[in-house]
Amino acid sequence: MPVKGGEFGIIGAGAAGLSIGWQLTRQGKAPILFDANLPGGGAMTASAGMLSPAYEAEYEELPLLRAMLASRERYREWAAQLGDIGYVESGTYELALLPEDVPYVQRRMEFEVAQGLRVQWLEGPELRQRLPHLSPRIPGGTYAPDEGHVIPELLRDRLVEAIQKAGGIILSHTPIVAVERVGSVFRLSTPCASYEVEVLFICTGVPLQGLNQPFKVYPIRGQMIAIENLDPDWLPAPVRYFNKLTGYGYAVPKRGYIILGGTTEEKGADPSITVGGVLDILRRAYYVFPDLYERRILRFWAGLRPATASRMPLFYRDPEAPAYYVNGLYRNGILLLPLIGEGAVQWALDGNLPAELQPFVHSDQA
Ligand SMILES: Cc1cc2nc3c(=O)[nH]c(=O)nc-3n(C[C@H](O)[C@H](O)[C@H](O)COP(=O)(O)OP(=O)(O)OC[C@H]3O[C@@H](n4cnc5c(N)ncnc54)[C@H](O)[C@@H]3O)c2cc1C
Repeated sequence: MPVKGGEFGIIGAGAAGLSIGWQLTRQGKAPILFDANLPGGGAMTASAGMLSPAYEAEYEELPLLRAMLASRERYREWAAQLGDIGYVESGTYELALLPEDVPYVQRRMEFEVAQGLRVQWLEGPELRQRLPHLSPRIPGGTYAPDEGHVIPELLRDRLVEAIQKAGGIILSHTPIVAVERVGSVFRLSTPCASYEVEVLFICTGVPLQGLNQPFKVYPIRGQMIAIENLDPDWLPAPVRYFNKLTGYGYAVPKRGYIILGGTTEEKGADPSITVGGVLDILRRAYYVFPDLYERRILRFWAGLRPATASRMPLFYRDPEAPAYYVNGLYRNGILLLPLIGEGAVQWALDGNLPAELQPFVHSDQA
């Protein structure tokens, strides 16, 4: 016998699902969320929590940059509303690892400044005044003062609390294995029960339990390492480092630890931690911060970033029924979370998706 789930159902209580869930409660609705594991246990809490539009958009990705900037603007208000999410407006650094990397980092800075972002060039000695543990080998880099970061686990906890306090329901360890349209409702089946809802959001990231979607999601593995940090001044802001041959790495300060990241690997839905991945992360971090040598490693983990073929976010509305898919948040789902939540809820309630999200409507509906 199906259980009446209510007006709004959300499959996947990750970054997108929790954000949409909270926005629904702010509109007086009481959604029911289903997660195959624990809320936020997918890519969300595997992430570094960087809010870094300046360094995330590539030259040809202007719509993504606009969406990231619009979302970042909302974070201060979000943090004030939600409580402690570890939100810090620290700025972010991007370093050239070798002299031959300098033109690339400077060219990016010119692009970012042309888009109206505040980014400045700092020579090696200036950088070392701000980041005293930086290797003297680093030739220079840029600083974007408007960037920030959050602690994904705290963000997850605050969203869960806010949804539950407002009457929403979150069911953990409840995978949805099939979705059927029965009359004017959706019937969502778990291995032990079924639930009926009127409006459905499908926010599964990399989908589990073989749930079908009308588009393909590619899992992009990111391996990460947390190391001990007892001195908050040791690393005052996230630092990204670039080399033409080895690509990007980063170090992100959190409370009592530093996250070193991250690999970007297309290996299917395999969250393994590998010798090569760990070696790449540590080799790059050690080159930038030689003092790391004696640090204790606290944890290794890997997460799967949900990517579309174009690597852009994807919004898809079922033409026949009120089912809304939000996916493809790839490397930026934490940064995009406020805009995604507000936008998807507005789409479902009023039929309008905000202008910044319209470029990401699935091509057969744009
Ligand atoms: C290593 C790494 C570092 C990152 N760093 C950053 C960063 O610094 N800044 C940033 O902005 N972003 C970052 N990201 C990206 C960000 O974490 C993702 O874009 C975001 O979490 C995607 O959100 P989502 O809700 O689509 O997917 P997820 O957060 O993965 O949530 C999907 C949820 O759906 C559930 N689910 C799946 N199938 C089912 C089913 N059949 N039934 C019920 N539940 C189901 C899963 O259990 C999961 O909880 C990083 C990601 C990784 C992996």
